[in-house]
Amino acid sequence: MTTAVSVRNLSVSYHGNQALRDISFTIQQGKMVGIIGPNGAGKSTLLKSMLELITRDKGHVHILGKPIKEVRKEIAYVPQRNETDWTFPITVIDTVLLGTYPRLGLFHRPKKQHKDWAYACLEKVGMEAYSNRQIGELSGGQQQRVFIARALAQDATLFCLDEPFVAIDVTSEEIIVSILQELRDQGKTVLVVHHDLSKAETYFEELVLLNKDLIDIGPVKKILQPDIMMKAYASQLSFLKLNEVRV
Ligand code: ADP
Ligand code: MG
Repeated sequence: MTTAVSVRNLSVSYHGNQALRDISFTIQQGKMVGIIGPNGAGKSTLLKSMLELITRDKGHVHILGKPIKEVRKEIAYVPQRNETDWTFPITVIDTVLLGTYPRLGLFHRPKKQHKDWAYACLEKVGMEAYSNRQIGELSGGQQQRVFIARALAQDATLFCLDEPFVAIDVTSEEIIVSILQELRDQGKTVLVVHHDLSKAETYFEELVLLNKDLIDIGPVKKILQPDIMMKAYASQLSFLKLNEVRV
């Protein structure tokens, strides 16, 4: 098996507050892996620091055995919904075409073949009828499908998605999940930040459980054991108990 992601001793802080502490783990290629943990656990920070979108205090990350700057084209990233400016004036098809740019190279205009490919990716997510719409005119689920099409257009090897199922409709979620599973079956690696634990078992083979520290990583069934989950969610659970007492 080939290593898709290797994270070694990764620490990240914001203005002196540590968000991730000495995280190390490895993910093999061809897996669909969920990154779970309570709110503020550092899940988004993990993806962003892995991809060098924010600076690290320390640590090394290798993707496909190489430093990130050598494999950027191989990585598709779909940020958390609230980090995108959905009022930005751009059409659906142009959004998907952006996915082809890393391979196109700077200063090269997309040719017909790229447009055809972008359109095919839109078809894959069932959004071809909306190609000339402004991205801001779509529902949450439709917008997320367009971003998945952009990731597909990039023809990446590693897909990193931050809470892709938040605030979207059931149909969009089903379409996106089946596309991600298909990518996994083709040998691609899919990392998904996710917080709906009820779906974790059906969606993922492996879970990374975070709460500032790496609590554990392993097969879904192993991680979803109460004693392991308690280590990450204990503070939330005691809060819930407190509320129950008050009621
Ligand atoms: P998660 O995605 O698991 O909810 P985040 O990675 O967004 O968690 O955040 C981890 C911690 O870092 C939280 O305490 C959050 O408040 C803090 N944090 C995240 N982004 C920033 C930022 N840009 N500036 C300051 N603190 C931040
Ligand atoms: Mg987050």
